[in-house]
Amino acid sequence: MSALDVAALLVPGKRICLTTHVNPDGDGLGSEVGLVHLLRGLGADVAITNPTATPDRYDFLFADIPGVDRSAQAVKELRRADIVVVLDIADLSRLGILAETVRDCGVPVACIDHHVGPGVLPDGPRFVDPEAAATGELIALLAREAGWPITHQSARALYVALVTDTGGFRFSNTRPRTLRVAADLVEAGVDTEQVYLDVYANAPEGRPRLLAEVLQTLVVEPEFGLAWVTVPPGSLERHDVDPDDLDGAVEHARSIRGVRMALLFREVSGGRTKVSLRSVGDVDVAELARRFGGGGHRKAAGVAIAGPMPTVQAELLQAARELLGGVVVRA
Ligand code: AMP
Ligand code: MN
Ligand code: MN
Repeated sequence: MSALDVAALLVPGKRICLTTHVNPDGDGLGSEVGLVHLLRGLGADVAITNPTATPDRYDFLFADIPGVDRSAQAVKELRRADIVVVLDIADLSRLGILAETVRDCGVPVACIDHHVGPGVLPDGPRFVDPEAAATGELIALLAREAGWPITHQSARALYVALVTDTGGFRFSNTRPRTLRVAADLVEAGVDTEQVYLDVYANAPEGRPRLLAEVLQTLVVEPEFGLAWVTVPPGSLERHDVDPDDLDGAVEHARSIRGVRMALLFREVSGGRTKVSLRSVGDVDVAELARRFGGGGHRKAAGVAIAGPMPTVQAELLQAARELLGGVVVRA
């Protein structure tokens, strides 16, 4: 299945619903908003229906498309859709409370994604390429193949997708094609400094204060090339911030000389502990996350594991040490 199979479905006269993973990020949201502008340009009827709320830092993307985010009525909107497009994931399990509705919607479910691993979704065309740095990169390529004009607004949203998933074009997923797509978007009129200011320099005061607390928890095991940080219980509430404000915190652990795997632990609802995994070099954290029921990319993965922090932490750290090699000290 190719880009054009997906494009062929997305035509005026159909109700199109776009959705992405729980706790949406810059790629999921940028891809949605980019696609909304592209499809509106064609005259299509399109809505965004996500399982969890948009973090404040991405509100600016929605300012000029009022009413397009119908996540509050997501289940109802999805049931009325003629076509569902799942972005930046390929598995129902990542759709949270919308998983069942999408599974049972009975209409084609298209998918545009860049994760490794096939995933489970209802039937529909797939445009999936793990070589892409971001789903936004694939949408830009799709637009080009389909001959859809890239507007200034769609370019900005897709640029946000690229910037956020590549860590500002620093990560190894930044390939020549990624930069060529980014160049096209900048040529279409993206104000790169303004995007930086909107996404990264419009923080609540609590964000750096939370980061300071999280970094205090840093533990490094040089013998394994392992480093981790832990979000202190209650710290998000105390600083009046949300999980999105932790974006990038794990990078500080990864930045230490000799570290090959960095982890961030956080207690989440339902008695689970969320782990963000990042690696350097050839360490495959997607594989490690999959063993615990999660997934992601080779160098950036995540998982939510049932159990309290100390138990999950001990279990995951032991598996990480075994993967990294070195002397495994058993408790
Ligand atoms: P995060 O650590 O949440 O920034 O996520 C890093 C990468 O792992 C992203 O590509 C996510 O899509 C993926 N990921 C995060 N959490 C999960 C999960 N519970 N299951 C599968 N993939 C995940
Ligand atoms: Mn994502
Ligand atoms: Mn992505």
